[in-house]
Formats: sequence, structure tokens, C-alpha cells
Amino acid sequence: MVEYGLIGRGLSHSFSADFFNEKFRREGIEARYLLFDIPTIDQFSTILSDHPSLRGLNVTSPYKREVMRYLDELSPEAAAIGAVNVIEFTADGKLRGHNTDWDGFCSTIPGVTKRAFIMGTGGAASAVALAFEKKGIDYSFVSRTPEKGQLNYEEMNAQLEDETMLINATPLGMYPLTDMIPDVDFSKINRSHFCYDLIYNPAETKFLKEAAKRGARTKNGLEMLKGQAVVAWKIWERSAKTR
Ligand code: NAP
Repeated sequence: MVEYGLIGRGLSHSFSADFFNEKFRREGIEARYLLFDIPTIDQFSTILSDHPSLRGLNVTSPYKREVMRYLDELSPEAAAIGAVNVIEFTADGKLRGHNTDWDGFCSTIPGVTKRAFIMGTGGAASAVALAFEKKGIDYSFVSRTPEKGQLNYEEMNAQLEDETMLINATPLGMYPLTDMIPDVDFSKINRSHFCYDLIYNPAETKFLKEAAKRGARTKNGLEMLKGQAVVAWKIWERSAKTR
């Protein structure tokens, strides 16, 4: 039987496993989706040799960057973002890395936003930035230790005008860090703001609760998560047709 799967660490419960196994059952696709919970990325090669029927992999934290050294090719988007969350097993035996987090995010944001602040500077933040670039939305990265061209939290708070969008692309607020919140000056947040948290567990983080209290529009990361899975399947399905 054809296999797909997810590599990551601490995979106690996986949205992807439920999503794909349910899809395979519903659509009568003869495939199964497996979880590869590995302590270090060094075990990547063993997974491949133990599972010759693998046709695609998802990659999650903390391996989205580290996995890149095992791949033969990268899509232009994965190369631009510098992180891979989907691996395609091509018909000519190559491993091609893709990033569908940016597609997942892009399909869930309004087309017109004055300016966006992306809190965090990891792989998810870069995927969000690519979506803004494709949509022509002006954005700034916000970091605890900003590099040239980035803002610190104090500078972001000083620039928090109306009608801007704030994205939490840090792990603050994610289970089990549910009491944590990015350093936003909520006294400046009002109903003209759109506050988006990439976290989906819990469904409403402390960041979203505080923003909602001030009347801001809010959104969690669930729709993005579903969106990236749908695009991953399109990549694997297209690849299967070339075999
Ligand atoms: P990451 O690389 O571990 O961290 C992202 C950034 O967060 C870091 O670069 C850091 O930026 C900042 N950060 C880390 N710890 C912090 C702290 N204690 N206080 C303030 N800032 C901190 O994570 P990632 O892989 O980019 O993912 C970020 C979030 O997005 C996670 O919660 C993840 O679950 C979520 N995500 C969701 C989806 C989805 O489909 N919904 C997809 C991908 C990721 P600085 O050092 O520059 O401050």
C-alpha cells in the first residue's frame, strides 16, 4: 500500500494524520498516513529505507529547516522561505521540498490591508512574508533581537496605526505555553485591527482573547493548517500522475 506521513518531534496528536486518513477512507484511496516521531533528523534516511512505499511526507517542528539538507531539489517558494513542510517523491526518484504554509496562509487573508506586522522571524514568519509579497501588502518583521530592517516590540507598538494587521508567528500562547502572549500594546488595538494567530491549539490564544476584548477582528491558524494540507495533496496527486 502507498504510504504518506509526517515527520516531527512530540507528535502526540496530529491534525494531518486525521485529515489524510479520513480523506483516504472517504474517497476510497488505497493509502495510509503514518506518524514518524523522531528525536533527531538523523533518522530521516532510516525512515526512507524502512518505508519504500512512501510517496510523500509532511514536515513539522522542529525539522522544517534541518530536513532541507536531505533533499535533492527545492521549489522556488521553499527556497525563498528557507523551510520545507512538504516533500514530494518524484517519478525520477528525487526528493523535492515544497512549502505550502504560505499558500495556506495566503488563501485566508483579506486582499487589502494597509500594513502588517509579523511577530517572530522563524520559518512560519517567512511563509507569511512571502504571502504578503505575493499580495503586495507592506509588512515588517518584529523580533526580540531585530536585524537590519526589522523592528523590536517597542518600535512596533509605536507604529501601531489603525487598520493594520498583526500576526503572531511565535510559539507564545501555544499549548502548553497558553499563559504567554507577545508584547503588544493592547491599549492601541481597536475594531479596525485584524489580529491573526498562526496557533490553532488552543483555538483562542491569550493574544486573540485580548484583541477580541478591544473589538479587533481575530482569526486562528486552523484554516491555514487545512489550506496547507489541501495544497500538499495537490502536489502529491500531480506527482502520482507522472509515474
Ligand atoms: P519557531 O521557529 O520556533 O519560532 C518562531 C519565532 O518566534 C522565533 O524565530 C522567535 O523570533 C520567536 N520566538 C520564539 N520564542 C519566543 C519567545 N519566548 N518570546 C518571543 N518570541 C519568541 O516557530 P515556527 O516554526 O516559525 O512557528 C511559529 C508558530 O506558527 C508556531 O506556533 C507554529 O505552531 C505556528 N504554525 C502554524 C501553522 C499553521 O498551519 N497554522 C503553520 C506553521 C507554523 P525572534 O527570536 O526573532 O524574536
